[in-house]
Amino acid sequence: MSNAVAASQSSRPTSPAQKALQKLGLARDIDLALHLPFRYEDETRITRLADARDGETVQIEARVLRSEVVLRPRRQLKVEVDDGSDTCVLRFLNFYPAHQKTLSEGALVRLRGELRGGFLGREIVHPSFKLAGGELPQALTPVYPTVAQLPQAYLRKAVLGGLGRADLSETLPAGAWPAAQGPAWTLQQALTFLHQPSPQVSLAELDDRSHPAWQRLKAEELLAQQLSQLQARRARDAMRSPVLKSAVGASGLHERLMAALPFRLTAAQQRVEAQVGADLLREQPMHRLLQGDVGSGKTVVAALAALRCIEAGWQCALMAPTEILAEQHFRKLVGWLEPLGIVTAWLTGSQKAAERRAALAAIASGQAQLVVGTHAVIESKVQFARLALAIIDEQHRFGVAQRLALRSKMTQTESGQALEPHLLMMSATPIPRTLAMSYYADLDVSTIDELPPGRSPIVTKVVNQSRREEVIERIRAQLGEGRQVYWVCPLIEESEALDLRNATETHAELAAALPGHAVALLHSRMPTLEKKAVMAAFASGQTVVLVSTTVIEVGVDVPNASLMVVEHAERFGLSQLHQLRGRVGRGAAASACVLMYSTGDGPRLGETARSRLKAMAETQDGFEIARRDLDIRGPGEFLGARQSGAPLLRFADLATDVQWLQWARELAPRMLDRHPQLAHRHVMRWLGSRSDFVKA
Ligand code: ADP
Ligand code: MG
Repeated sequence: MSNAVAASQSSRPTSPAQKALQKLGLARDIDLALHLPFRYEDETRITRLADARDGETVQIEARVLRSEVVLRPRRQLKVEVDDGSDTCVLRFLNFYPAHQKTLSEGALVRLRGELRGGFLGREIVHPSFKLAGGELPQALTPVYPTVAQLPQAYLRKAVLGGLGRADLSETLPAGAWPAAQGPAWTLQQALTFLHQPSPQVSLAELDDRSHPAWQRLKAEELLAQQLSQLQARRARDAMRSPVLKSAVGASGLHERLMAALPFRLTAAQQRVEAQVGADLLREQPMHRLLQGDVGSGKTVVAALAALRCIEAGWQCALMAPTEILAEQHFRKLVGWLEPLGIVTAWLTGSQKAAERRAALAAIASGQAQLVVGTHAVIESKVQFARLALAIIDEQHRFGVAQRLALRSKMTQTESGQALEPHLLMMSATPIPRTLAMSYYADLDVSTIDELPPGRSPIVTKVVNQSRREEVIERIRAQLGEGRQVYWVCPLIEESEALDLRNATETHAELAAALPGHAVALLHSRMPTLEKKAVMAAFASGQTVVLVSTTVIEVGVDVPNASLMVVEHAERFGLSQLHQLRGRVGRGAAASACVLMYSTGDGPRLGETARSRLKAMAETQDGFEIARRDLDIRGPGEFLGARQSGAPLLRFADLATDVQWLQWARELAPRMLDRHPQLAHRHVMRWLGSRSDFVKA
């Protein structure tokens, strides 16, 4: 590891500015050097007021004509200046005696700010200023991302210091740079340039990051990401897992479940099931993401994997993000597996102490072959006798730490060697290819790209809130045909109380409008037991309309429900809408989804909301929806940095830098094999201070 780290660790941050540097993750010299400006200011020129356009950020030198504190419309310092070509007014809403002193009548000052055409002439609000004179800088002035307590001037100095001290020696192997990109800028050249570009450079090339110096940095960053993921993958491959050999032939559990199922697996299910099966026969831990659109039948694939594990004499755990979903899995799996003689345990935070103790004992003794539950499964009290397979449903709703916790429920073999469980992660939110390539390079991905037969397409209608009566009429018609209906209430994030009131009111409204039909209410604030009772009543058909907030979002499976109404659909995200819509169309009946929107106080819906609803109406394909969602939100938000634990790229942009991603993917394995030292230096340089990445 470089000396810079040692040095920075020994020197404790003392001043608020130093603490702020640490907060920004700028611990080492190289971190400072890699902290790049997000824009530049051109302070190399003085503009004449007469030549400047409104809206332009200008630097002028002018003489103060008048300086006064006025009280209307607000107390402020108003200063009139003249640069010989024109005059303009400066306004300071916050000011100190020092302002008035420097900006006193007759003073010649250098000012910088955005020029606006005001009602009474041109003005600049809160310009920066100093006495005129002094040399103009030679380079563009960088403006860095910063936090409170860390002034630009301090940060600039720190960055330049780091740049001067950091080791920027070459880490790319000779010949690695693609010739088609033209001659490579070295990292040293690129950083020096980007921190202090000469004023001749086109600001556009810097702003859109197409400049060769930026290209070098993007390439380096993506390479570091690919290298580190590959390292993680190889480290994992060096670990050992139980080889899950199960009996073959008609007596095998696996075959017996297949024979008992009321349906045949789709070709896609068979394919991914075989991929999982092959992984489980290896002694390296499986690390597989199983993605498949809502309703594509992932649960049965999980059940078959569990059987392979159990048949080989090991335990399997399945974890789901919500109690409702976990319970649904539990019921379904027990229904499938109990006839095969398999013992399943149930674990959740809300269960009674005695029940929980019994479950823990059965898990610890190995008597429970399958354990299904919520986050409770990863609590430290839960000790498995022989855990060999961990399955995580809706994996994107868990953090990295939680996934790791499940993996670290290590098992001791007879020989005392620690074994790593195999890991199967399932998700109904498909990850577009470039994202998967970039962020999940250490995962194998299996995709169920086909829905079971006999599903009728869901007709999606986008309607204005003003047509609520018609929508209720439609509900009546569905209920008349013996069908069930979901009504999802808006999500008002700022206020759960409002959320609840709205759902309660809607519930009352529908109950009144649909006499003779049982209308139920489900809300995230309800006690778990009550929630479960409400869900069970709906699943059994006892209640026919379910008014709810988004607690039904994931996994719930009631095939008789054929209509879904989403109120204030404009407030939901695209993936969320897709997940919601997936609750219907699970049976053979023709299904529909009505997305009701309201424009609020404005005349029209916002651009983003409109494109989301349009996408929903136009396609039902989860992959296409994910692609559009990515377009609308960008990768950062799409993944949700915290949720996925995927470290986001700072400089590279997956939409425009796919060719660099491809390059890095090809280079990374060769570099690890032939130039391990360079690879190590490269990763440490870029990611050495990021705990999330290096630990992986
Ligand atoms: P998801 O992938 O969203 O988790 P589920 O596993 O809940 O989907 O499956 C949705 C429904 O489809 C369930 O009722 C399941 O039993 C059923 N199903 C799964 N596979 C098939 C199949 N090959 N043919 C018919 N129905 C299937
Ligand atoms: Mg599911």
